[in-house]
Amino acid sequence: MKAALCYCQYSAPSFFGYKEAKTYANRTRLFNKFINRKLYNCNLNKLEGIQEGLKTFEGLSMKQIAFALTDLHSINMIRGCINHCLHCYANAQPFFSRAPFESFKQIMDDILALKKRIGINPVSHRGDKYVDCYFDADGLNMHLFDKEGKKHDAVELGTLIHKSTGMKAVFDTNGWDRNDREKQKIAEDYVKKLLKNKNSKHFYQINISLNPFNPNYVKALKDGYNPETYSPFIPIDEVMNPKEPTPLKKAEERYREYVKNEANILFTFTPLLLKGKLGAIIRGLDKKIPKMEGCYLEDYTTTLSNILGNLEWLYRADLIGEQKVIKNEKMLKKAMRLYLKRLNKNSDFLFSSGRMEKFYKVKHNGSLKGIEKIDNLRKRSKRNFAKLMMTKKLSSVDLMYLKMINSDGKVFLYDNYAVIPTDIQLNTGNKPLQKPFWIKVKDFVLKTDMIDRI
Ligand code: SF4
Repeated sequence: MKAALCYCQYSAPSFFGYKEAKTYANRTRLFNKFINRKLYNCNLNKLEGIQEGLKTFEGLSMKQIAFALTDLHSINMIRGCINHCLHCYANAQPFFSRAPFESFKQIMDDILALKKRIGINPVSHRGDKYVDCYFDADGLNMHLFDKEGKKHDAVELGTLIHKSTGMKAVFDTNGWDRNDREKQKIAEDYVKKLLKNKNSKHFYQINISLNPFNPNYVKALKDGYNPETYSPFIPIDEVMNPKEPTPLKKAEERYREYVKNEANILFTFTPLLLKGKLGAIIRGLDKKIPKMEGCYLEDYTTTLSNILGNLEWLYRADLIGEQKVIKNEKMLKKAMRLYLKRLNKNSDFLFSSGRMEKFYKVKHNGSLKGIEKIDNLRKRSKRNFAKLMMTKKLSSVDLMYLKMINSDGKVFLYDNYAVIPTDIQLNTGNKPLQKPFWIKVKDFVLKTDMIDRI
């Protein structure tokens, strides 16, 4: 989203002091509220000192704080994912790490305290109004542990985010292996919790993603399997007289597992769908991108109908069995209708960064030629970064970078392609991260004196 440029009125730190800053904040409180003023267009000079005593912001100027909290995309407290989606722009890896819950709570508490002191929400967004607590993880991994070992789940973290930052959180999953009983239980528990308005109201969206970038799907097609030939059943003579499976048989089995998995995800989230609380994202590529057979939206349609066929099968089995999700025929029809409607909405917009870039390279014999056909933002990112390096002025770029704060407090700029370090660091009390992201971090640091626009 292109937002209007906003310039902060900051000149140089005056270190006004807490008392004076508080008096100024009180004096301007009503007016600021009336005109819906954001922190970045307040007189930050006069607010200098109001952050005193808030551990998270120790040693930071108001300019640095306002900068870090404007267009805040995520506070990355959770890392790690085993899904290995081939379009993952974060290039997420299966190495899990979680910051202690206490440090997340401290950040949230300090943002809230700052908000109370100033009378303005210090977090504001000119794009999508949500804040995540992870970048390279899946929604099902959205939990932290405190020092006593108590688990704080996605609902709790999302509630905290919303109450402190005023921005809602996001729950988005690319799914799990249906044989992973622990993940299945986590998903079912989230469904139960998110059915309650008091929990779901803290989420900007609750989403499941279906796409042709799942490694099992991609491998099955690569090994020659044709989704048009899919049958949910293994022929009886094959069951009776099993032979050494051929590579094509293995591919078929892989594909069948993929379909069953996706159908299970849809089945598990059905109660949220029936309550109108579930979104679904179907993403695939446009046909104009060469050599990506199987990953085009059109190619994926057959697989979507195979998944829906399997889902109906699961519903029918549930209806005559436990009735965990489907209680009657009417409900079954409604769920099928709603999923059909959701799954008809799709998008061929994808970021060509992270693992998608690698995937593209593999499909194009090591070349990235033509990759900009996937999305036109790639070039813009390159152009902006070049300008920033040359001018050393943030105002020279034609976009508002998003901000990401890592668990060690370091603040980064992000535009879905480039991750650019800054010299701003919040005090989270966590150990420095050796590898801050699984995508490349630019070898250039945005210094505070280059911030001539927030
Ligand atoms: S897209 Fe999401 S679920 Fe897939 S690998 Fe990346 S973080 Fe994991």
